Amino acid sequence: MKILRLAALAAASLLLPASCCRQAPKAVIPPYLNPEVDIEARIDDALSRMTLEEKVAILHAQSKFSSAGVPRLGIPELWCTDGPHGIRAELIWDKWKEAGWTNDSCIAYPALTCLAASWNPEMSALYGKSIGEEARYREKDVLLGPGVNIYRTPLNGRNFEYMGEDPYLSATMVVPYIKGVQQNGVAACVKHYALNNEETWRNSIDVDLSDRALHEIYLPAFKAAVQQGGAWSIMASYNLLRGRHVGQDLLLTKQILKDEWGFDGAVISDWGAVHDTDQAIEGGMDLEFGSWTNGLTQGKSNAYASYYLADPYLERLRDGRADVAGLDEKCRRVLRLIFRTAMNPDKPFGSMCSDEHYAAARKIAGEGIVLLKNDAAALPLDAGVKKIAVIGENATRMLTVGGGSSGLKVRREISPLQGIAERAAAGGVEVEWARGYASDGSSSPALIAEAVALASGSDAVIFVGGLNKDEHQDCEGTDRLSMDLPYGQNELIAALSEANPRVVVTLLSGNAVSMPWLAGVPSVLQAWYPGSETGHAIADVLWGDVNPSGKLPFTFPAALEDSPAHYAGKTFPNNGKTFYDEGIFVGYRWFEHKGIKPLFAFGHGLSYTSFEYGQPRISRTGLRAGGSLKLSVPVTNTGERDGAEVVQLYITDCECSLERPGKELKGFKKVPLKAGESATVEFVIDSAALEYFDDASHSWVAEPGEFIAHIAAASDDIRGSVSFSLL
Ligand code: BGC
Repeated sequence: MKILRLAALAAASLLLPASCCRQAPKAVIPPYLNPEVDIEARIDDALSRMTLEEKVAILHAQSKFSSAGVPRLGIPELWCTDGPHGIRAELIWDKWKEAGWTNDSCIAYPALTCLAASWNPEMSALYGKSIGEEARYREKDVLLGPGVNIYRTPLNGRNFEYMGEDPYLSATMVVPYIKGVQQNGVAACVKHYALNNEETWRNSIDVDLSDRALHEIYLPAFKAAVQQGGAWSIMASYNLLRGRHVGQDLLLTKQILKDEWGFDGAVISDWGAVHDTDQAIEGGMDLEFGSWTNGLTQGKSNAYASYYLADPYLERLRDGRADVAGLDEKCRRVLRLIFRTAMNPDKPFGSMCSDEHYAAARKIAGEGIVLLKNDAAALPLDAGVKKIAVIGENATRMLTVGGGSSGLKVRREISPLQGIAERAAAGGVEVEWARGYASDGSSSPALIAEAVALASGSDAVIFVGGLNKDEHQDCEGTDRLSMDLPYGQNELIAALSEANPRVVVTLLSGNAVSMPWLAGVPSVLQAWYPGSETGHAIADVLWGDVNPSGKLPFTFPAALEDSPAHYAGKTFPNNGKTFYDEGIFVGYRWFEHKGIKPLFAFGHGLSYTSFEYGQPRISRTGLRAGGSLKLSVPVTNTGERDGAEVVQLYITDCECSLERPGKELKGFKKVPLKAGESATVEFVIDSAALEYFDDASHSWVAEPGEFIAHIAAASDDIRGSVSFSLL
């Protein structure tokens, strides 16, 4: 590909007189090719040289994952790749089929839920830098990710690709990922903008909600991605908002994204998300991909000239139904994307599957794994454990494949069983595995009996189950059918807990599951999908080589009906149309509002050590609009192991003319503390943190009055509070 690009650049010499090529000519570089020239001037220059046909040609795909560039001018093709957990294998030009290359295996980084569960922006920066280097090495210009759709329902098949239920957490975590990717000259394409909160009928579901919920809950992560992360592209989702597909929608893509937030990048359609030429011209769509496919399986060869932003657009330009100014506006954005990526003179070369990258994947996974329960110090495994029974299909199953577009062809994947066996062998511990359940639906009493026999003769049982990447599990294109663990795992875990008191349930999933067996097991680890280093990362935590420090990025409800999208018998999804009538009460905001106790609260996560919080103090008790105050709180590691605590700051508005959530996350810091060590954790609260979105005035408002700042170890574990007022 690189060679092709250089050839394309050389083609630009056709612009020079032939004689100058022979006689050591003085280089006359046209402004658009001159890296010394300001990027906007380069864009203007390129645009001035392009024909109408060439302009239209850069606004739509030429293959499954590329767009054409301007070959005559040496402006290269633009190559996209999924995203968001690794660099997808190469596909055949015009088919959803792997091309069979032998040099396109990648590292799978942890799923984005795991990254969010680290509550550590440094992990996000490391993630972005590492995956960006791999994208660069593979000559990709646009990485299709990260995803920041809000976790509204535990049934959403794509929750594992997103960053949880809270707008502040996802907004904070998305920014370093984007910067890390883009420092490689690769654009992040933040997806799926917006309100793609379920997969069922994802192409036709028509979402409606209050403006307040839109701005307070569903948009902040995208806004941060644009304004703080400086994202160079954004992917418009499949669904509709109030009757119109969002990629062709004036409100979301044009008014909010471009006009209000000042987004200067390109809006790229999700694959097949454009449905109407006139709306796409008028709305904010800049670059159309995947039309005439269902985004996954069905394609139509050579349909590219018939794309909505191809010949139909050209016809409208020629007969005056569409204007050139509108065309140029789109072209400018696409050219800017090309100049920032494919034609970026400063981009590094990248690297692939390096030791450093594996170490990054393992570190991020180790910080994201959440210890949900740990009674009777069942973990970490100690010297008394000489024989371990590893039970469960997920202990040996590759979970980097499947799941839809995020599926990867990895160079290596350490399974949980491999990681556990490797670590056990170092301590002379015996490990045996039994399948226990089967995802082909035939969980049999024989499998359970075999697992139980193994469990009863072992010192500890590590059950490794959860969901997988099959349809109706954690998988694009379908949603889960219930919140229960599939394939008879509940019965199996119950039987194991009767056979052995030391059962550690390790769940690989991107979603909350119900846990009817919870009281019977001492320990539960939520391990997400850690990617290539899965087995190592899990073993690190089981043996305490890594002290768990992850916290839940979303609530685990006790029952599906407790969660906002399913409350009071609400059907899901609702016959092609869905109204988010819980409004701003999503996630922990909902559970607190309704007084429903979740199984595990947002922000919850245990450690092998303990942390004590002192009294929070504020620098002043009164805050003026536009001003800020400082809050500090001492935290001490009171146990015997080094660890890290995520200190969370929530704010309550005591009195407001609109109903507000009981409290909202407005800050967090992950603090590493050695055994016995103390630190003072500081937060700055500015008046913007007190605002709500007022539907009536269509603006953010901070109402004077009393507020409470809570310092917490989880949303249901407040360790100290302090009041202040907005004057
Ligand atoms: C998915 C996107 C993905 C694209 C390209 C679509 O079906 O929704 O997330 O990036 O395909 O594979």
